Amino acid sequence: MRSSILIIYTGGTIGMKTDAETGALVPFDFSGIYEEFPSLKRLNVDIDAHTISPVIDSSNVSPENWVTLAELIRDNYARYDGFVVLHGTDTMSYTASALSFMLENLAKPVVFTGSQIPIGVLRTDGRENLITAIEIAGARIDGHPEVPEVSLYFQNRLFRANRTTKRSAEALSAFRSYNYPPLAEVGVNIAYNLGAIRRPTEYPATLRIATRLSGGVALIKLFPGIDELILRAMLSAPGLRAVVLETFGAGNAPTSEWFIRTLEEAIARGILILNITQCGGGRVSMELYDTGLRLQRIGVLCGYDMTTEAAVTKLMYVLGLGLEADATRELLRIPLRGEFTA
Ligand code: ASP
Repeated sequence: MRSSILIIYTGGTIGMKTDAETGALVPFDFSGIYEEFPSLKRLNVDIDAHTISPVIDSSNVSPENWVTLAELIRDNYARYDGFVVLHGTDTMSYTASALSFMLENLAKPVVFTGSQIPIGVLRTDGRENLITAIEIAGARIDGHPEVPEVSLYFQNRLFRANRTTKRSAEALSAFRSYNYPPLAEVGVNIAYNLGAIRRPTEYPATLRIATRLSGGVALIKLFPGIDELILRAMLSAPGLRAVVLETFGAGNAPTSEWFIRTLEEAIARGILILNITQCGGGRVSMELYDTGLRLQRIGVLCGYDMTTEAAVTKLMYVLGLGLEADATRELLRIPLRGEFTA
Protein backbone atom coordinates (compact mmCIF):
# COMPACT_ATOMS: atom_id res chain seq x y z
CA MET A 1 0.00 0.00 0.00
CA ARG A 2 1.35 3.44 -0.93
CA SER A 3 1.44 6.10 1.77
CA SER A 4 0.58 9.73 1.17
CA ILE A 5 2.74 12.36 2.81
CA LEU A 6 2.32 16.10 3.19
CA ILE A 7 5.56 18.06 3.39
CA ILE A 8 5.13 21.37 5.19
CA TYR A 9 7.93 23.88 4.65
CA THR A 10 8.04 26.60 7.31
CA GLY A 11 11.43 28.14 6.50
CA GLY A 12 15.05 27.66 7.53
CA THR A 13 18.27 26.59 5.87
CA ILE A 14 16.94 23.37 4.40
CA GLY A 15 14.77 25.26 1.92
CA MET A 16 17.56 27.27 0.32
CA LYS A 17 19.22 26.64 -3.04
CA THR A 18 21.68 28.60 -5.08
CA ASP A 19 20.20 30.64 -7.90
CA ALA A 20 21.92 29.48 -11.09
CA GLU A 21 22.20 33.02 -12.46
CA THR A 22 23.07 35.14 -9.43
CA GLY A 23 24.72 32.58 -7.15
CA ALA A 24 22.63 33.88 -4.22
CA LEU A 25 20.64 31.61 -1.88
CA VAL A 26 16.94 31.66 -2.75
CA PRO A 27 14.03 29.60 -1.36
CA PHE A 28 13.57 26.18 -2.91
CA ASP A 29 10.11 25.44 -4.33
CA PHE A 30 9.09 22.17 -2.67
CA SER A 31 6.19 21.69 -5.08
CA GLY A 32 8.85 20.78 -7.65
CA ILE A 33 10.30 18.12 -5.38
CA TYR A 34 10.08 15.23 -7.88
CA GLU A 35 11.99 17.19 -10.54
CA GLU A 36 14.68 18.04 -8.01
CA PHE A 37 14.90 14.53 -6.50
CA PRO A 38 13.68 12.01 -9.11
CA SER A 39 14.81 9.18 -6.81
CA LEU A 40 11.87 10.02 -4.53
CA LYS A 41 9.61 8.30 -7.08
CA ARG A 42 11.16 5.02 -6.01
CA LEU A 43 9.84 5.42 -2.45
CA ASN A 44 6.45 3.88 -1.88
CA VAL A 45 4.89 7.29 -1.15
CA ASP A 46 2.83 10.01 -2.82
CA ILE A 47 4.04 13.47 -1.84
CA ASP A 48 2.33 16.83 -1.72
CA ALA A 49 4.09 19.96 -0.52
CA HIS A 50 2.74 23.04 1.21
CA THR A 51 4.79 26.13 1.96
CA ILE A 52 3.61 28.23 4.89
CA SER A 53 3.60 31.88 3.89
CA PRO A 54 5.66 33.81 4.74
CA VAL A 55 8.57 31.41 5.30
CA ILE A 56 10.51 32.44 8.39
CA ASP A 57 13.90 32.04 9.95
CA SER A 58 13.04 29.89 12.93
CA SER A 59 14.42 32.50 15.37
CA ASN A 60 11.25 34.43 14.57
CA VAL A 61 8.88 31.57 15.37
CA SER A 62 6.09 32.29 17.86
CA PRO A 63 3.19 30.38 19.41
CA GLU A 64 0.94 31.86 16.68
CA ASN A 65 3.04 29.96 14.10
CA TRP A 66 2.59 26.77 16.16
CA VAL A 67 -1.18 27.22 16.07
CA THR A 68 -1.08 27.71 12.27
CA LEU A 69 0.96 24.52 11.93
CA ALA A 70 -1.33 22.53 14.23
CA GLU A 71 -4.40 23.73 12.31
CA LEU A 72 -2.82 22.80 8.98
CA ILE A 73 -2.07 19.28 10.20
CA ARG A 74 -5.58 18.96 11.66
CA ASP A 75 -7.23 20.16 8.45
CA ASN A 76 -5.22 17.66 6.37
CA TYR A 77 -5.23 14.84 8.90
CA ALA A 78 -7.65 12.52 7.13
CA ARG A 79 -6.05 13.07 3.71
CA TYR A 80 -2.49 12.02 4.56
CA ASP A 81 -0.81 9.09 6.30
CA GLY A 82 2.02 11.21 7.63
CA PHE A 83 3.51 14.70 7.77
CA VAL A 84 7.07 15.96 7.34
CA VAL A 85 7.67 19.44 8.77
CA LEU A 86 10.72 21.27 7.42
CA HIS A 87 11.83 23.85 9.96
CA GLY A 88 14.90 25.94 10.76
CA THR A 89 17.11 24.10 13.19
CA ASP A 90 17.56 26.95 15.69
CA THR A 91 14.19 26.54 17.40
CA MET A 92 13.06 23.25 15.89
CA SER A 93 13.02 21.51 19.27
CA TYR A 94 10.71 24.20 20.69
CA THR A 95 8.23 23.97 17.81
CA ALA A 96 8.31 20.18 17.74
CA SER A 97 7.89 19.96 21.54
CA ALA A 98 4.97 22.41 21.41
CA LEU A 99 3.29 20.41 18.64
CA SER A 100 3.72 17.18 20.63
CA PHE A 101 1.44 18.70 23.29
CA MET A 102 -0.95 20.54 20.96
CA LEU A 103 -1.75 17.53 18.72
CA GLU A 104 -3.70 15.91 21.52
CA ASN A 105 -4.80 12.56 20.08
CA LEU A 106 -2.15 12.19 17.37
CA ALA A 107 -1.91 8.71 15.88
CA LYS A 108 0.04 9.47 12.69
CA PRO A 109 3.70 10.40 12.15
CA VAL A 110 4.70 14.05 12.27
CA VAL A 111 8.43 14.09 11.50
CA PHE A 112 10.38 17.33 11.89
CA THR A 113 13.62 17.80 10.02
CA GLY A 114 15.85 20.50 8.57
CA SER A 115 19.50 20.88 7.70
CA GLN A 116 22.70 22.64 8.62
CA ILE A 117 23.69 23.16 4.96
CA PRO A 118 21.13 24.42 2.38
CA ILE A 119 19.50 21.75 0.24
CA GLY A 120 20.82 23.37 -2.93
CA VAL A 121 24.46 23.17 -1.83
CA LEU A 122 26.35 20.12 -3.07
CA ARG A 123 27.48 18.90 0.35
CA THR A 124 24.04 19.39 1.92
CA ASP A 125 22.84 17.23 4.78
CA GLY A 126 19.29 18.23 3.82
CA ARG A 127 18.79 15.71 1.04
CA GLU A 128 19.34 12.68 3.26
CA ASN A 129 17.40 14.24 6.14
CA LEU A 130 14.44 14.96 3.87
CA ILE A 131 14.35 11.63 2.04
CA THR A 132 14.66 9.55 5.21
CA ALA A 133 12.10 11.69 7.06
CA ILE A 134 9.65 11.02 4.20
CA GLU A 135 10.36 7.30 4.36
CA ILE A 136 9.84 7.26 8.13
CA ALA A 137 6.59 9.25 7.87
CA GLY A 138 5.27 6.68 5.39
CA ALA A 139 6.46 3.54 7.19
CA ARG A 140 3.82 1.13 8.45
CA ILE A 141 3.79 -1.89 10.72
CA ASP A 142 0.81 -4.25 11.11
CA GLY A 143 -1.43 -1.82 9.22
CA HIS A 144 -0.56 1.13 11.45
CA PRO A 145 2.07 3.89 11.21
CA GLU A 146 5.47 2.80 12.47
CA VAL A 147 6.09 6.04 14.42
CA PRO A 148 2.72 7.60 15.36
CA GLU A 149 4.10 10.49 17.38
CA VAL A 150 5.88 13.83 16.89
CA SER A 151 9.49 12.98 16.12
CA LEU A 152 12.62 14.75 14.90
CA TYR A 153 14.94 13.20 12.33
CA PHE A 154 18.50 14.46 11.93
CA GLN A 155 21.74 12.82 10.77
CA ASN A 156 20.81 9.17 10.91
CA ARG A 157 18.78 9.35 14.07
CA LEU A 158 15.10 9.65 14.78
CA PHE A 159 14.26 11.08 18.19
CA ARG A 160 11.11 11.72 20.20
CA ALA A 161 10.78 15.43 19.43
CA ASN A 162 10.05 16.58 22.97
CA ARG A 163 13.27 14.94 24.18
CA THR A 164 15.52 16.87 21.80
CA THR A 165 17.80 19.88 22.09
CA LYS A 166 19.88 21.61 19.44
CA ARG A 167 23.37 20.94 20.71
CA SER A 168 25.63 22.27 17.95
CA ALA A 169 25.63 25.22 15.59
CA GLU A 170 28.36 23.50 13.58
CA ALA A 171 28.11 19.70 13.61
CA LEU A 172 25.82 18.00 11.13
CA SER A 173 24.53 15.88 14.01
CA ALA A 174 22.98 19.05 15.44
CA PHE A 175 20.44 17.45 17.79
CA ARG A 176 20.67 15.24 20.84
CA SER A 177 18.21 13.41 23.00
CA TYR A 178 20.26 13.05 26.17
CA ASN A 179 17.70 11.27 28.29
CA TYR A 180 15.76 9.05 25.90
CA PRO A 181 17.01 6.53 23.34
CA PRO A 182 16.57 7.16 19.59
CA LEU A 183 13.29 5.91 18.12
CA ALA A 184 15.26 4.70 15.11
CA GLU A 185 18.84 4.51 13.91
CA VAL A 186 19.54 4.75 10.22
CA GLY A 187 22.33 2.87 8.52
CA VAL A 188 21.94 0.60 5.53
CA ASN A 189 18.47 -0.08 6.95
CA ILE A 190 16.20 1.89 9.24
CA ALA A 191 16.29 0.08 12.58
CA TYR A 192 13.20 1.09 14.56
CA ASN A 193 13.45 0.86 18.34
CA LEU A 194 9.94 -0.50 18.74
CA GLY A 195 10.05 -0.55 22.55
CA ALA A 196 10.78 3.19 22.66
CA ILE A 197 7.99 4.36 20.31
CA ARG A 198 4.67 5.53 21.83
CA ARG A 199 1.63 3.72 20.50
CA PRO A 200 -1.81 5.26 20.85
CA THR A 201 -4.65 3.15 22.21
CA GLU A 202 -6.86 4.19 19.31
CA TYR A 203 -6.50 5.61 15.79
CA PRO A 204 -9.23 8.26 15.50
CA ALA A 205 -10.13 9.69 12.09
CA THR A 206 -9.94 13.29 13.27
CA LEU A 207 -7.25 15.15 15.10
CA ARG A 208 -8.08 17.15 18.22
CA ILE A 209 -5.75 20.09 18.73
CA ALA A 210 -5.18 22.70 21.43
CA THR A 211 -5.01 26.22 20.06
CA ARG A 212 -4.64 28.21 23.26
CA LEU A 213 -1.09 28.56 24.53
CA SER A 214 -0.59 30.65 27.63
CA GLY A 215 1.78 33.58 27.92
CA GLY A 216 3.34 34.40 31.28
CA VAL A 217 6.01 31.67 31.18
CA ALA A 218 9.59 32.57 32.13
CA LEU A 219 12.86 30.70 32.08
CA ILE A 220 15.41 31.40 34.81
CA LYS A 221 18.84 29.79 34.82
CA LEU A 222 20.62 29.83 38.17
CA PHE A 223 24.27 30.76 38.55
CA PRO A 224 26.46 31.33 41.61
CA GLY A 225 26.07 34.99 42.54
CA ILE A 226 22.53 35.43 41.24
CA ASP A 227 21.31 38.76 42.55
CA GLU A 228 18.46 38.92 45.08
CA LEU A 229 16.93 42.13 43.74
CA ILE A 230 17.01 40.91 40.16
CA LEU A 231 15.48 37.53 41.03
CA ARG A 232 12.76 39.29 43.06
CA ALA A 233 12.04 41.61 40.16
CA MET A 234 11.81 38.70 37.74
CA LEU A 235 9.42 36.79 39.99
CA SER A 236 7.29 39.92 40.47
CA ALA A 237 6.96 40.63 36.74
CA PRO A 238 3.38 41.51 35.78
CA GLY A 239 1.59 38.63 34.07
CA LEU A 240 4.02 35.99 35.30
CA ARG A 241 2.26 32.62 35.72
CA ALA A 242 5.00 30.00 35.70
CA VAL A 243 8.77 29.69 35.80
CA VAL A 244 11.02 26.99 34.45
CA LEU A 245 13.90 27.07 36.91
CA GLU A 246 17.12 25.62 35.55
CA THR A 247 18.93 24.44 38.65
CA PHE A 248 22.33 22.83 39.24
CA GLY A 249 23.05 19.11 38.88
CA ALA A 250 20.31 16.90 40.26
CA GLY A 251 17.96 19.83 40.90
CA ASN A 252 19.94 21.78 43.47
CA ALA A 253 19.77 25.48 44.33
CA PRO A 254 21.22 27.77 47.03
CA THR A 255 19.82 27.24 50.51
CA SER A 256 20.28 30.88 51.54
CA GLU A 257 17.29 32.26 53.36
CA TRP A 258 16.59 35.09 50.90
CA PHE A 259 16.59 32.71 47.94
CA ILE A 260 14.17 30.20 49.44
CA ARG A 261 11.93 33.00 50.76
CA THR A 262 11.79 34.69 47.35
CA LEU A 263 10.65 31.49 45.69
CA GLU A 264 8.24 30.68 48.53
CA GLU A 265 6.58 34.09 48.20
CA ALA A 266 6.19 33.65 44.44
CA ILE A 267 4.59 30.22 44.97
CA ALA A 268 2.25 31.76 47.56
CA ARG A 269 1.16 34.25 44.86
CA GLY A 270 0.13 31.28 42.69
CA ILE A 271 3.22 31.16 40.45
CA LEU A 272 4.20 27.65 39.40
CA ILE A 273 7.90 26.82 39.57
CA LEU A 274 9.11 23.79 37.64
CA ASN A 275 12.59 22.51 38.46
CA ILE A 276 14.72 21.11 35.63
CA THR A 277 18.46 20.66 35.54
CA GLN A 278 20.76 22.84 33.47
CA CYS A 279 22.84 19.71 32.74
CA GLY A 280 22.18 18.22 29.30
CA GLY A 281 21.87 14.70 30.63
CA GLY A 282 20.46 13.37 33.88
CA ARG A 283 17.54 14.27 36.05
CA VAL A 284 16.20 16.26 38.96
CA SER A 285 15.92 14.26 42.21
CA MET A 286 15.00 16.85 44.79
CA GLU A 287 15.28 14.45 47.73
CA LEU A 288 18.95 13.67 47.03
CA TYR A 289 20.55 16.71 48.72
CA ASP A 290 19.38 19.27 51.23
CA THR A 291 19.75 21.88 48.47
CA GLY A 292 17.00 20.15 46.48
CA LEU A 293 14.87 19.12 49.44
CA ARG A 294 14.33 22.77 50.41
CA LEU A 295 12.81 23.45 47.00
CA GLN A 296 10.54 20.42 47.26
CA ARG A 297 9.30 21.51 50.72
CA ILE A 298 8.21 24.94 49.50
CA GLY A 299 6.21 23.44 46.61
CA VAL A 300 8.59 23.61 43.65
CA LEU A 301 7.48 21.00 41.08
CA CYS A 302 9.86 18.33 39.84
CA GLY A 303 10.63 18.40 36.11
CA TYR A 304 12.54 15.09 36.24
CA ASP A 305 14.63 14.71 33.04
CA MET A 306 12.72 17.20 30.87
CA THR A 307 14.47 19.43 28.37
CA THR A 308 14.09 23.21 28.61
CA GLU A 309 12.16 23.13 25.33
CA ALA A 310 9.65 20.57 26.62
CA ALA A 311 9.28 22.30 30.01
CA VAL A 312 8.57 25.74 28.51
CA THR A 313 6.10 24.49 25.90
CA LYS A 314 4.37 22.10 28.31
CA LEU A 315 3.71 25.01 30.68
CA MET A 316 2.31 27.10 27.80
CA TYR A 317 0.05 24.20 26.81
CA VAL A 318 -1.12 23.15 30.28
CA LEU A 319 -1.78 26.73 31.45
CA GLY A 320 -3.61 27.36 28.17
CA LEU A 321 -6.10 24.62 29.06
CA GLY A 322 -7.54 26.96 31.71
CA LEU A 323 -7.93 24.32 34.43
CA GLU A 324 -8.18 24.81 38.21
CA ALA A 325 -4.85 25.12 40.07
CA ASP A 326 -4.92 21.51 41.38
CA ALA A 327 -5.68 20.00 37.98
CA THR A 328 -2.95 22.14 36.40
CA ARG A 329 -0.38 20.94 38.93
CA GLU A 330 -1.52 17.34 38.39
CA LEU A 331 -0.87 17.55 34.63
CA LEU A 332 2.62 18.87 35.37
CA ARG A 333 3.33 15.88 37.63
CA ILE A 334 2.70 13.28 34.92
CA PRO A 335 4.22 12.78 31.47
CA LEU A 336 1.59 13.69 28.84
CA ARG A 337 3.48 12.73 25.66
CA GLY A 338 6.49 10.83 26.97
CA GLU A 339 8.32 14.09 27.67
CA PHE A 340 9.95 12.80 30.86
CA THR A 341 10.62 9.61 32.74
CA ALA A 342 9.67 9.88 36.42
N1 ASP B 1 18.69 30.27 11.20
C1 ASP B 1 18.18 29.06 10.59
C2 ASP B 1 16.82 28.77 11.19
O1 ASP B 1 16.74 28.21 12.26
C3 ASP B 1 19.13 27.95 10.79
C4 ASP B 1 18.72 26.63 10.20
O2 ASP B 1 17.71 26.46 9.57
O3 ASP B 1 19.47 25.69 10.40
O4 ASP B 1 15.83 29.13 10.62
